[in-house]
Amino acid sequence: MKNNNLKKNNHYGVCHICGKTGMLTFEHIPPKKAYNWERAKIYNGYEALSKSQGEPARYSNSQQGMGKYSLCQSCNNNTGTWYAQAYCDFAMDVIKSLHKGDQPLKHGDIINYRFKDCPALQIVKQVIAMFCSLLPYHEVKRLGFDRLLLEQKSNTVDKELFDLRMYLTSVENGQVMCGPTAVLIKKPNSIEASWVSDLSVYPFGFILNLTPEIPVNYGGSIMDMFDVDYDDKCEFELTLQYLERSNNALPLPLMFKELPNK
Ligand SMILES: [Zn+2]
Repeated sequence: MKNNNLKKNNHYGVCHICGKTGMLTFEHIPPKKAYNWERAKIYNGYEALSKSQGEPARYSNSQQGMGKYSLCQSCNNNTGTWYAQAYCDFAMDVIKSLHKGDQPLKHGDIINYRFKDCPALQIVKQVIAMFCSLLPYHEVKRLGFDRLLLEQKSNTVDKELFDLRMYLTSVENGQVMCGPTAVLIKKPNSIEASWVSDLSVYPFGFILNLTPEIPVNYGGSIMDMFDVDYDDKCEFELTLQYLERSNNALPLPLMFKELPNK
């Protein structure tokens, strides 16, 4: 009887990190303290596609901020304790610096940041944790993200399997969560389909390219952030491009305005 009741609950399912079946908890994407406490519209890739074909997309209008019921209590707590704070500090630093600038950013602008005492591995692991909520669990496993996140200090990733890129976004261009979606990339003599997930969480956007053999040129790769140890506080430079979406109502990955010619 009790078991039956559990299964009726919407939030019963497979944890996107450890793969155990049970009650799922709400994972804030990005973490709540990183500017995520307002109502949010949440789309997934399939809904975005149906919208592009003229049907209205369904979204959850979440009062809790943006996120998903995707992680078990234990994984939610662990990622929160091990990775989220570093990410929040990093995001709030960049938000402060963006507010200091007297000129608003323009699409395609490039800004150089120099960070000091920055726990780069913790930050990038929080980014991976956010993507895990958007990926089906079998993809999380194939990519090795389960082991990466379950072992607090691990920095083991297979760089042949994915590329992770980062850009800057505005509040208005705000929050978009796209699960892995095929994106057609026009080449001189052919069209190739890359498999991409796009997560735009002010002030950042992240692109997870699951077909790294077909490079995505937006933003800059942050794969180097996996090369340090968990406790390392590094000094590093990051070149971030500011990108605006061509259509805010149509949340498809990589739908950016055309870039001005260099
Ligand atoms: Zn779990």
